[in-house]
Amino acid sequence: MRQLTCVEAGKVEWREVPEPRLAGDGEALVRPLAVARCDIDLFLAAGFFPLRGPFALGHECVGEIVALGDAVRGLEIGQRVVVSFQLSCGRCARCRAGHTAVCEAYPTLSDYGMQPLSGTEHGGMLSDLIRVPHASTMLHPVPHGLEPAALASVSDNVPDGYRAVAPHLAAQPGSEVLIVSHGLASIPLYAVQAALALGASCVDFASDDGDARAHAERLGARAVETDFQAAPPRTYPIVVDAGVTPAGLAYAVRATEPEGVCQSVSFHPGKTTPVPLGRMYTLGVRFHVGRCHAAAVLPDVLALVGRGALRPQAVTTHVAGWEDAPRAWLEPAVKLVVERR
Ligand SMILES: [Zn+2]
Ligand SMILES: [Zn+2]
Repeated sequence: MRQLTCVEAGKVEWREVPEPRLAGDGEALVRPLAVARCDIDLFLAAGFFPLRGPFALGHECVGEIVALGDAVRGLEIGQRVVVSFQLSCGRCARCRAGHTAVCEAYPTLSDYGMQPLSGTEHGGMLSDLIRVPHASTMLHPVPHGLEPAALASVSDNVPDGYRAVAPHLAAQPGSEVLIVSHGLASIPLYAVQAALALGASCVDFASDDGDARAHAERLGARAVETDFQAAPPRTYPIVVDAGVTPAGLAYAVRATEPEGVCQSVSFHPGKTTPVPLGRMYTLGVRFHVGRCHAAAVLPDVLALVGRGALRPQAVTTHVAGWEDAPRAWLEPAVKLVVERR
């Protein structure tokens, strides 16, 4: 079968690889129909993280189930599903606690399309088939009437934006929210959508990128122009740090109200990252950091998508055909979706 493969930094091509097969009775084989590019994918393909040889690309998709193990219940061949980007068993203590990103059955960062980070190849979604080792946990049916391209990013970035605000708005309903966007393309925009869908009384969007601010305004946020050097104009009870720069992180902390919550969805890549702990201690800024637990939050996200409260397609800026994937994958776009036509 064909698999879009990053063969070296900045170079991707289709490669022939063996088809995956069912290896257990709880597994599924899925044929990806629409694949979205995660905010980290351009960093991966550019060699921002040290490459360990060729690797399969893509970890956000809607696909069609083409084979199921005998023990899988509640799913059918032919069904369209969102696939969790993280491998998780659904049975270990961490999975049962909702911490599916750190499933005890797999080494850390066991995801599709992220071999440079984990060191292990689990396949990529820009392929003719992927093997899903825990179908009941990792596959979630697509709500009726929605097209695959609209939901491709629900594997990862859409729930990432959702979980950035959902627990904090549940604890403080109707709060005002600030999203600080500094280098991640789509996750901060999904966070805007989620905050509005979950009843935030207002959502402000701070960024140094005019196009990102304009996109956020179209989604219903109020834009705050900043270079992240000057102090934030005000503070908020809930702030989301979504980016890659220490300056953006510092701005997010400064914008958090005393006893407020600063939720970071960022992967700060350095060995250490400066954090103003003295200020945070004095003001009681509660700082949360960690990965999205995709399989655990997908049912809640899909419920919001199903009733139209979340519209991931409003964040998509480019839809390419499957054959164009090698070229399109390396071109800039806020959110690229590749679909079979
Ligand atoms: Zn991702
Ligand atoms: Zn587990």
